[in-house]
Parts: sequence; C-alpha cells; structure tokens
Amino acid sequence: MEKRFNSLSLFEFQTQFPDEDKCREYLANLKWQNEFKCSKCGHGRYCGGNGTYDRQCTSCRYIESPTAGTLFHKSKVPILKAFYIIYYLSTSKNGISSTELSRKLALRQKTCWLFKQKVMKAMESSQNFPMEGKVDVDETYVGGQDDQAIGRNEGKKKIMVVAIERKGKGVSRMYGRVIETASKKNLKKFMGEHIGKQAQVRTDGWTGYKGLESEFPKLTREKSEKKGKNFPQLHRSIMMFKAWLRGVHHSVHYLQAYVNEYTYRFNRHKMKEGIFENLMKRMVSKPPYPYKLIIS
Ligand SMILES: [Zn+2]
Repeated sequence: MEKRFNSLSLFEFQTQFPDEDKCREYLANLKWQNEFKCSKCGHGRYCGGNGTYDRQCTSCRYIESPTAGTLFHKSKVPILKAFYIIYYLSTSKNGISSTELSRKLALRQKTCWLFKQKVMKAMESSQNFPMEGKVDVDETYVGGQDDQAIGRNEGKKKIMVVAIERKGKGVSRMYGRVIETASKKNLKKFMGEHIGKQAQVRTDGWTGYKGLESEFPKLTREKSEKKGKNFPQLHRSIMMFKAWLRGVHHSVHYLQAYVNEYTYRFNRHKMKEGIFENLMKRMVSKPPYPYKLIIS
C-alpha cells in the first residue's frame, strides 16, 4: 500500500508556523473566517481582545480566544507543539505514536497521548459522503484469541464491522465501527451512516444482514463458505488494519479512535486537498473533548 499525501513538507510547515503568534493567527482566521459571531450573545461585532488574536464582543464584552470552544480548548500542549502533533499525524504515512511524539517534541508521553486522542476525535468520519458503487461489508474480531498480539492483557476481544468501497481491483475507501454485537440493529445503523442506498452491497449469509434489502435494494448476501474467495479486498484491508494496529497500539482499549485514525488517512490517500489543512478545519469546528469524555 504505497501512499503519498499531498501535503506540506516539514520545511514549508516550519516556514508557515515559525512561532505561537502565527499559529494563533491561523486559528483565528480559520475559526471566524469572514464573520464573527459572539458565542455568548450572538452579536456580530468585535474589537481586539487583549493584544493577542482574541476577540471581544462589543455588546456583552465577552472575550473569546481562537482556541475556545474547539478541540484545542484548554489543552496543556503549547500551541506550536500542538500544531506539530497535527502535522505529524496528518502527514506520516502510518501516523505516529505518543511515545515518538514525546521524544520529538520534549513533552510528557501522557500529554501527547491526550492531545492525540483529541486529534483522533477530529478524524472521526463526518458521515457526509456515503460509499457508492461496489461495497463489501463484514464483521471481524479484534483482540483476544483471533489476534494474539493485541489485547492479551485486556483479555477481551471486540467486534468491528468494516465496509470498503471497491474501485477496479483496489479499495477507494474504508470505514469501521466497534459494535457490542453483530445484531441487525447495529449493522443497519453503521451501514445507514456510511453506505449510499443505491450501492451494490455484498455481505455474507449472516442473519444480521437479512432483511436489509429494504434499506439497500441492491444488497446481495453470499454464502459464508465462499467468503474468503469472494471478498479478497475486504479481508486484505482488514488484515492491513490489524497489522497497523499491532504496530502502534497493543490493547483494544480506545479501538474506535484508532479505527477513526486509520480510515481517516486511508480515505485521503489520493485527495487533492491538503490533509493538514483539512484536519485543522476539523480541529476548529468540533467542540472540546475533555479528558473525562476521552476515558469514559
Ligand atoms: Zn457577546
């Protein structure tokens, strides 16, 4: 899987963001774009805040920073280092572990881990672009006996439903979700959120998919014994995801976050839009994701 990201080189990145001031300016422009709207009272006019890129509402006097109410909200990571984390996560082919980030940026590993979780939140699918054409769906176990290197200490395996969109002999997109059970309800919800109604969906003979033809008229269920032969791209995609997961992460805790991270990069391997800019936009438009929520 050779992937090239259409992205900033490290040199370009460092030229664009030499200091914290430039980072704040970038965030302010991204957050407010052409129009300011006070998040307390909705008023549309502001004056400069306290000398930074903060903005103060001229009606209720509330001062808002470029990071307030975003995924950067109250982060312990200094803003320039936060930008580096996002840069590495978006441009490294296989991502980067919190341990490696900690070494590169002279931050505590725990601090990097926590901020990385926020970036992974930003990588969550928007569900705005359902898969079309040829789509294969199947469930797989992660952790436990089927996959001994992962989750040995956790002692629990998780079920994940995976869907791929096929293009020619390859795979153009992939989504996955950790589910409690492979029930019809869970499968239907995932498929409804990621697959277009007119897609030619293929599944195996599992009863959980029975009756979903009402949602996806072109759905076909194939006999399970043929599965290995009939779904080669899907099973290869799953294998590669698991291999990647073993390399970066050794438990099935927070599995969904890692699924989000993997599929986010995978689905953009041919994208024209800069992946760094895309991730920044998401960081600014999503609400804060505090520690309490992350570990819950
Ligand atoms: Zn206001």
